[in-house]
Amino acid sequence: MNAVQTEPIQITEPFRGRNDTRRNLVGLSRDELKATLAEVGLEPFRARQIWQWIYWHGVTAFAAMTNIAKPAREKLAELFVIERPQVVTEQRSTDGTRKWLLRFPDGNEAETVNIPEEDRGSVCVSSQVGCTLTCSFCHTGTQALVRNLLPAEIVGQFMVARDSYGEWPTPTNDATRMLSNIVMMGMGEPLYNFDNVVAALKIVMDDQGIALSRRRITLSTSGVVPMIPKVGEALDVNLAVSLHAVSDEVRDTLVPINKKWPIAQLLKACADYPGARNSRRITFEYAMLKGINDSDADARELVRLLKPIHAKVNLIPFNPWPGAPYECSSNNRIHRFAEIVNDGGLSAPVRTPRGRDILAACGQLKSASQRDRREKVRL
Ligand code: SAH
Ligand code: SF4
Repeated sequence: MNAVQTEPIQITEPFRGRNDTRRNLVGLSRDELKATLAEVGLEPFRARQIWQWIYWHGVTAFAAMTNIAKPAREKLAELFVIERPQVVTEQRSTDGTRKWLLRFPDGNEAETVNIPEEDRGSVCVSSQVGCTLTCSFCHTGTQALVRNLLPAEIVGQFMVARDSYGEWPTPTNDATRMLSNIVMMGMGEPLYNFDNVVAALKIVMDDQGIALSRRRITLSTSGVVPMIPKVGEALDVNLAVSLHAVSDEVRDTLVPINKKWPIAQLLKACADYPGARNSRRITFEYAMLKGINDSDADARELVRLLKPIHAKVNLIPFNPWPGAPYECSSNNRIHRFAEIVNDGGLSAPVRTPRGRDILAACGQLKSASQRDRREKVRL
């Protein structure tokens, strides 16, 4: 492998904010864009053109919009911007994973990760700064929620990734996309920021722009049961559920939202999710925690619970963090567990941890940025 940079390669400091009142056009729905442009006297077909410039071509300057007359472009530039979140750092793992620390106009920050594989690239997008939930094995869960991210900030994460790979305009052949998938698996609980996540993903799925098919988008939830049918109605994307335990007793301690919506209710909502019984499989995430949820009996119970649902299991070796009250199960244990689940008729791949050297793996986001900053101050 070539020499790979693992230190941050881009630093934009200090934060100054945007010292003007121009409105960001990124993050508006098509109708909102049309209405906003109508206010300044632009016809509806202009909204269509500008949409394509922003999301198909990825331009950030109105001057590049060559099918719009110069006076109109100048007027647009006076009133609006096409703005991404600010990239504070970009880190590259030895395994190719890239992680961006992004800063929003109010100074809050969140992280985005791209995990390249042979035939795809999955961009792991955050929905909140921090998280209100307190899953005991997740580092993000030890941080208070700062705020929900806005549609522009959610779509903007994917646009920053596309900038970094130079993947503009949108590839017409889906198979050639480097950034081919979105997983809503970054910081935060997407179903506690439902409207903004829906608005952002609708922009991403629009075929005149970024044009990602719903089949290439996966939304992960810790189990906000009443919102699960709404995901089906509003987006119909792939669903992933952070299960992590087979009894309410254990799940209550790992994923405390289980006390509100226990396993039986969660699985019922999953079974009713559109397509779940047919072609589409729901992914159940299961972090392997030594001595907690990794016995043979747990594996057999997992099969019993999930057999009636068209499901697959992602076994995630626990990613440790300082002070974490858990350890990762041994390799042998994980493979024995996977074998039992596979023999039970469910696909149960063991997810190879990616980007651990830059703290980009599951459950390590944001916490790393804060730790970095404290270390810098101490030096
Ligand atoms: N809040 C949503 C989206 C985050 S997805 C959710 O919880 O589903 C991130 C996935 O990584 C979740 O399945 C989460 O449970 C899991 N995870 C969190 N901390 C982890 C850790 N330390 N090691 C392995 N997986 C972890
Ligand atoms: Fe929040 Fe998900 Fe972490 Fe739980 S696992 S604390 S829901 S980000």
